[in-house]
Amino acid sequence: MIARNNIIQWLQQVEHPAKGDRNIVELGMVEDVDISGNSVTVTLGFAKHRDPLAEYLIGSAKAAIIRNAPSGTGVEIRTVIKEPAPKKKPGLDLGFEEISQVKHIIGIASGKGGVGKSTVSVNLAVALARLGYKVGLADADVYGPSVPKMTASEGMTPDAILEGEKEVIMPMEKYGVKWMSIGYFAKPEQALIWRGPMACNALKQMILQVRWGELDFLLIDMPPGTGDIHISLVHDIPLEGAVIVSTPQDVALADVEKGVNMFRNESVGKPIFGLVENMAWFTPAEHPDERYYIFGQGGGMRMAQKYDIPLLGQIPIVQSIREGGDSGEPAALSSRPDGLAFVALAEKLAESLK
Ligand code: ADP
Repeated sequence: MIARNNIIQWLQQVEHPAKGDRNIVELGMVEDVDISGNSVTVTLGFAKHRDPLAEYLIGSAKAAIIRNAPSGTGVEIRTVIKEPAPKKKPGLDLGFEEISQVKHIIGIASGKGGVGKSTVSVNLAVALARLGYKVGLADADVYGPSVPKMTASEGMTPDAILEGEKEVIMPMEKYGVKWMSIGYFAKPEQALIWRGPMACNALKQMILQVRWGELDFLLIDMPPGTGDIHISLVHDIPLEGAVIVSTPQDVALADVEKGVNMFRNESVGKPIFGLVENMAWFTPAEHPDERYYIFGQGGGMRMAQKYDIPLLGQIPIVQSIREGGDSGEPAALSSRPDGLAFVALAEKLAESLK
């Protein structure tokens, strides 16, 4: 015979990924537990309609009971909304108020992972701030959110404030940039949950619910590739256009084509402001004047010409850029040649948007 206490104990194993390590019991989300014979019905309360984590929490609660209860126990999870959502807007209740003072919203995209898209995004944001612009970066890379690590802000949880019925998330501020990342809301091992259909809603929230304030540039570090999440993002976020990052290798450049086609697709129709050739050449730390074209030379320029997009910048492959990413002090803060390469990129992007 299962007791109510057992159920509560099992439900304590279900942690809410957006609320640190707190579980759904201590968060007061368990509204009711009903046991009749060998079937259990649990009612979970959610504060709002369309909570992006609802499906995940319902699934986890059910799994926690099934895992612990005697086999044959029937489990049903019901939900109630504790505060009725405002009726005015259909769909996800997000407006564009929080991004209304942002001048340029730019997606940073890449045809494939591992080309340095996040490294370029983070350093470009820092370099734009160095030039005196007001900058924000939203890290929407569900496959590997890197802003927390690259800015040494892992483990931090952004503050949320309630304004009437609206919850607003405050961005992190460091190096003169406002940062937000999907990584602040999920532990790396929980990142899987962001890859389902609800990832799109969570991403939109992470961009549209953040108090960005007045900004010249909001960069969106997009997930690599050209899947459904991208199409949804470019449709639902008023992106002005995109910057594409690639390495000079043929395999990476072949994927640039997919990225270009995605933005130029009739249903999307967003301009591409330029291509960034990352890892354009290798420069050893002890010989700063030498360039070794280990991934081939001129690939970025050929691709830019082929698609009639500007080559906005070339970033060398140097140890200090990788170290900057790992230590959380972006290379763009420095006055070394690699730092200045990001500043030159930032100048060119800002110029092209005037
Ligand atoms: P992506 O976002 O495209 O998956 P990342 O930005 O995470 O790629 O970069 C992948 C790895 O390559 C990271 O370890 C990063 O530090 C390193 N890296 C990226 N660009 C450079 C560069 N120009 N020089 C040295 N290391 C780099």
